[in-house]
Amino acid sequence: MNTSRSEQLYKTACGFMPGGVNSPVRACKAVGTVPLFIDHAKGSRIWDEDGNEFIDYVCSWGPNILGHCCEPVINAVKAACDKGLTFGACHKGEITLAELIKKHFPSMEMLRLVNSGTEAVMSAIRAARGYTGRDKIIKFEGCYHGHSDGLLVKAGSGLMTQSIPSGAGVTEGCTKDTLLAKYNDTASVEKLFEEYGSEIAALIVEPCAANMGVVPPENGFLEFLREITKKHGTVLIFDEVITGFRLSDGGASKYFGVTPDMTTLGKIVGGGMPLACYGGKLEIMQCVAPLGSVYQAGTLSGNPCAVAAGIETIRQIESIPNFYEELDKKSAMIENAIREKGLNVNRCGSLMTVFFNDERVKSYDEARACDTESYGRYYRHMLQSGIYTAPSQFEAMFVSYAHSDEDIAKTIEAIESYR
Ligand SMILES: *Cc1c(COP(=O)(O)O)cnc(C)c1O
Repeated sequence: MNTSRSEQLYKTACGFMPGGVNSPVRACKAVGTVPLFIDHAKGSRIWDEDGNEFIDYVCSWGPNILGHCCEPVINAVKAACDKGLTFGACHKGEITLAELIKKHFPSMEMLRLVNSGTEAVMSAIRAARGYTGRDKIIKFEGCYHGHSDGLLVKAGSGLMTQSIPSGAGVTEGCTKDTLLAKYNDTASVEKLFEEYGSEIAALIVEPCAANMGVVPPENGFLEFLREITKKHGTVLIFDEVITGFRLSDGGASKYFGVTPDMTTLGKIVGGGMPLACYGGKLEIMQCVAPLGSVYQAGTLSGNPCAVAAGIETIRQIESIPNFYEELDKKSAMIENAIREKGLNVNRCGSLMTVFFNDERVKSYDEARACDTESYGRYYRHMLQSGIYTAPSQFEAMFVSYAHSDEDIAKTIEAIESYR
């Protein structure tokens, strides 16, 4: 495979941006390759600057659940662009999108549109603190909730991939109210509530962890979190930035049948544009300015072009019969091929990770124990076979509706020829 143009561009980019990238995992450091510079994409395929074609299972880390360049979405964005890129004022689309989101996530009684998942989570936690008048929060090791200071503690993929324990530049003051629990370990949560119960504003969790590789919740884990937070008056936040509109139209909450107090959405909800949102119980959201005293704002929040992409993406999902069943079927075929190869795989709907570990991965510690060298070899094999997957052991593989039977067959062939 010729990647000379990508190599050249990467060299140039390194002179302008830290590591040549605008988000660390893209640098492909963990898998020992040069990052490919993408020229364009369509459906399940992407093409790099050297003209190499790949079946894409990164899908921009989740947003492209309909595949790349889904025509109705592109047309909606084009039409919105023609009316103005941004107004910094109210427009009808905001209501349409909010209504659509609330229809699928009824527990988001009121919501606010923002520009990124990071911002959504940061704002949700601020609202939960404002509402409860408490300071502390619980997060889980290996869960990622964006890069705001207070949440950059054992925060999954990006940091795991590069072995940065927490991250420089984050002060002790910023993280002193962040309590760490272990995913799928109820005792670790109980202990924190015993010690700090009345001081804990919020517990935030990825209802299906996908930033330490895919680690689904064990039976009863989410129900346990629901119960213990209720008992202590702590706001339960489901960070559904990945799982929202991914595991089902009502996200992980509907998929697992557990209702949080607040939810954050991103990735798919913006249809490939920078858009995310947070919302939840009315009494919590009424604490947000201008109704309440929790301040949160954004020049580009509710951007009309991003909103148009979100609306059309959700409408497409709604209009395709058996959308999630189909996605599940496609994903199961890939999962089976991986298993037959004797490799370890975790799958939840259209999210999956091949783990280079002999045991089923149920926790952050088990994920961390994986053989990342072997993952790198697997990654390079897949890439050489025309399959573009996540350049890190600790990320998910995303299957989209645009992946055809032929794509899946080609992918399975590549898996079968590994080693
Ligand atoms: C991607 C992600 C975020 C951060 O979203 P950005 O849009 O990258 O800021 C937060 N939480 C989860 C669970 C994510 O997967």
